Amino acid sequence: MPATAEHVWTAAQSQLRGMLRQDHFALWFEPLRPVTLDGDLLKLQVRDEFCAIWLTNNYLDLLRSAASRAAVRPINIEFVVGESGPETPPTVADETVPSRIAGEEADPAPAATANGAPTDSLFNQNSTFSSFVVGSNNQMAHSASLAVAQSPGRSFNPLFLFGGVGLGKTHLLNAIGHEILGRKKNHKVVYTSCERFTNEFIDALQNNQLARFRRRYRQVDALLVDDIQFLAGKERIQEEFFHTFNTLHEARKQIVLSCDRPASEIPGLEQRLISRFEWGMTADLQPPDVETRMAILRKKEASMKIKLEPKIIQFLADNIRSNVRRLEGAFLRVASFRQLAGRAVVLDDVESLLREILEEERRRNLTIEEIQRRVAEHYDIRLADMKSKRRPESIAFPRQVAMFISRQHTDNSLSEIGDAFGGRDHGTVMHACRAVKNRMEVDAQVRQTVGYLEKQLLR
Ligand code: ADP
Ligand code: MG
Repeated sequence: MPATAEHVWTAAQSQLRGMLRQDHFALWFEPLRPVTLDGDLLKLQVRDEFCAIWLTNNYLDLLRSAASRAAVRPINIEFVVGESGPETPPTVADETVPSRIAGEEADPAPAATANGAPTDSLFNQNSTFSSFVVGSNNQMAHSASLAVAQSPGRSFNPLFLFGGVGLGKTHLLNAIGHEILGRKKNHKVVYTSCERFTNEFIDALQNNQLARFRRRYRQVDALLVDDIQFLAGKERIQEEFFHTFNTLHEARKQIVLSCDRPASEIPGLEQRLISRFEWGMTADLQPPDVETRMAILRKKEASMKIKLEPKIIQFLADNIRSNVRRLEGAFLRVASFRQLAGRAVVLDDVESLLREILEEERRRNLTIEEIQRRVAEHYDIRLADMKSKRRPESIAFPRQVAMFISRQHTDNSLSEIGDAFGGRDHGTVMHACRAVKNRMEVDAQVRQTVGYLEKQLLR
């Protein structure tokens, strides 16, 4: 007898019960209800959106692995908000926009369930234009998206959005999808990731279903393809996508693409695709400035009906700068702590709840130059000596300390660090790091100094 959602979930739950703190388990995992197990997709019902986001951000991997162990095969998890019972049909028609929160956008689940359910054309319910905060960092991308959504195929075609991780590309693609469907109910809009497009193409090849695959992607009013950088170096897929693109473009159907970099920087992307991607409109997304970060947090408070102390909101906006996904994750963590603790949150709570995120943020924002400057200042040597070939111990040792701190607290490689220190090679940097480490072990004074410098730099 094939395993049902209930079987798998009961077994997964009992694993989780053993792994988690009792109160945590009771709060987050006990109330989950299995809805359906369809192919490799287990749907779990959660009571509200907050739960779904919290579980996605914090426990998706754990849930996936517990369910996979229980089912003895890889299982993906999806959360369904609200009342849908186990009789919910397993597949959903293209046109419907069910209330669901997809798994992590950055890492889409492998394509197509066994029966080829069209899961990719479902949009994330929460990613709409009205939930998107516009700032100077994303204004162009936002207005181009809006224009395209209001008159698909008539304004910019294709629209090519690019920017780093967590800056709102997937959000805008979803918003475009919602908006088109909101205006034109019977339009066919397909949202897919490039990875899923690729996997489905390979499946179609193997199962002799190319005609069906092509109908699916070429007979649409709008095709939204996320993370197109996945085309890098894949000739056969590029060829297929080229024809899909041409068919749609000629028929004046809207194409929207997202990418983590400009098209011209995708390695091994055919010239004819690069030039097509640049035919329409290209807009980039930058990290949000502090005002936009504040606005995003305020919007989150409103949508989740949770209020944090103004000081806490300010702290989050000031300190989490690299991307919106992180900012949201931090907010959720603090908000959920507040729910659990049932008392006001103070800065110390936030520091300890978000220790890793904050460290990572500070690390990201720390440059080798700052380290050099601070260390030179402390030892009272010239900044230029960080790069010079001079060897007296009074200069060589501070230089080594700066290399050591750069290694510990930035994401630069050994050779990048070497370069920044007057073109030294990576072996020299490695040697410097080892030397400082050894000195710290035997010399309390050195240990203290390095610790003090690190603390100052990471403040
Ligand atoms: P990307 O696809 O660029 O990696 P996403 O679109 O997945 O980023 O965004 C990450 C998270 O941040 C999502 O939850 C998204 O809703 C949110 N987000 C990003 N930019 C904004 C914005 N300008 N306003 C509101 N939410 C945003
Ligand atoms: Mg994305």
